[in-house]
Amino acid sequence: MAKTYDVVVIGGGPAGYVAAIRCAQLGLATACVEKWINIEGKPALGGTCLNVGCIPSKALLESSEHYHKLQHGLEAHGISVGEASVDVAKMIGRKEQIVSQLTGGIAQLFKANKVDWLQGRGKLLAERQVEVTGHDGAVEVVEADNVIIAAGSVPIDIGAAPKDDKLIVDSTGALAFTEVPKRFGVIGAGVIGLELGSVWKRLGAEVVILEAVEDFLAAADHQIAKDALRQFQKQGLDIRLGARVTGSTKTDTEVTVQYTDKNGNHELTFDKLLVSVGRRPATDGIADAAADLVLNERGFIHVDDECRTNLPGVWAIGDCVRGPMLAHKGSEEGIMVAEFIAGNHGHMNYDTIPWVIYTQPEIAWVGKTEQQLKHEGVPVKIGTFPFAANGRAKAMDAAAGMVKIIAHAETDRVLGAHICGPMASELIQELVVAMEFGASAEDLQMTIHGHPTLAEAVHEAALSVDKRALHRVN
Ligand code: FAD
Ligand code: NAD
Repeated sequence: MAKTYDVVVIGGGPAGYVAAIRCAQLGLATACVEKWINIEGKPALGGTCLNVGCIPSKALLESSEHYHKLQHGLEAHGISVGEASVDVAKMIGRKEQIVSQLTGGIAQLFKANKVDWLQGRGKLLAERQVEVTGHDGAVEVVEADNVIIAAGSVPIDIGAAPKDDKLIVDSTGALAFTEVPKRFGVIGAGVIGLELGSVWKRLGAEVVILEAVEDFLAAADHQIAKDALRQFQKQGLDIRLGARVTGSTKTDTEVTVQYTDKNGNHELTFDKLLVSVGRRPATDGIADAAADLVLNERGFIHVDDECRTNLPGVWAIGDCVRGPMLAHKGSEEGIMVAEFIAGNHGHMNYDTIPWVIYTQPEIAWVGKTEQQLKHEGVPVKIGTFPFAANGRAKAMDAAAGMVKIIAHAETDRVLGAHICGPMASELIQELVVAMEFGASAEDLQMTIHGHPTLAEAVHEAALSVDKRALHRVN
């Protein structure tokens, strides 16, 4: 007889493991099937985010920023140090230790919450049965009243520069270099290209980023994207827009990339090349044909607004379904689905998902951009405030960038907020809460912000919506 559960989750990334923990908290007998093998050859939970995504990239961004500051950021403070050096192996080791602690922490949470971790590959069969193929090849079938698929995503490979894990790598490879490449090429000026391009640039690489489209960060507010691009170029990140990679050739030690832009055909040679042109859902072989699970033409599992698939009792969440590929989006979907399964009310507000790019300055936003609202014909009033006029940012020597708040011209409701600047990742959260509560710009104007804080720039941007900022000319 097949073992039965209330819920079986396929995938133990931030979408799947959070769903599993919440299901268990709600008293449901829960198992999570996860196949990940980490760099030590051991099974691990946490998915892309903890193993090769959010966490390791932020660890390296932090380390590389310290190194960069030692070299370039302290003189103005009157501090000088001897020549800075970097031990890449130690830096990478620190990153791995953080990963290992956090992924181990999820395993502990599973134990404490009595979630069974079924190690191996899961496949959905008909009638909510799940076939689990263990790492030793042994096959077991389990049954559940509900199955949640949280299979995640994998990097997209391109024919013009196929990954070889030596010279041409994806984000996983670029998080594990053992030395700083002298010439580092990046294809795609998206989130990964900018974050990992920044890491290796700060550590001393010459970085060129080739981006196919003419618009820089097309999904961001154009004013903010323009401001950010100027800052990155000032740092020496060579970002070439409208550059379409057409092919590549390799020797043993270097890779030459051919690309075309409006000025014609070009070639560049690199010691390492990162391909970061997006990710695709990891849904190959996720379901048996007999299960009849509907996927769209790009491999995303088809779901409704509440993450129900076409099959009763089968749900799908996270990167393998529509919507932004962000860890917190998947986690919240997981919680929503767990609540539905337990018979409670599930909640997910797709309009208030924050976006953050952890460059320096950081870029963060929530809600709609100015161009989206104009396109939709929504009447808006806009407030901005530069960090150059914020005392705390000045004291931090981090006065580049601005806060921009967009409110409805008639109702005053906040419709979008966009930040390029220091700690934008943290500052945006106030605006997420404001939007979640349906706040107006006036609500933010009337909220007392501590002094001196970076958050005062948010306050001033809200005041500027009604042309009443105090520390700038309106
Ligand atoms: P995943 O994390 O991909 O997890 C899916 C899991 O399912 C994997 O562990 C996989 O092994 C498992 N799995 C798949 N198929 C099966 C199967 N058949 N059987 C068993 N197990 C299976 N997002 C942010 O919000 N903030 C960031 O700062 C950020 N930084 C990133 C940096 C990098 C370099 C990368 C690559 C991504 C980053 N992301 C970030 C994106 C984030 O990692 C993903 O959005 C998030 O991990 C998606 O969660 P998920 O659970 O849907 O999928
Ligand atoms: P992305 O979608 O952010 O950016 C890909 C970029 O590559 C785009 O600008 C696109 O125009 C460009 N591109 C596509 N094909 C190209 C080609 N052939 N030549 C040159 N440029 C090309 O994708 P990504 O950076 O690979 O990241 C994948 C996902 O991971 C993102 O969707 C993001 O949600 C997630 N992620 C999030 C964070 C974060 O939240 N801080 C960090 C890293 C990754």
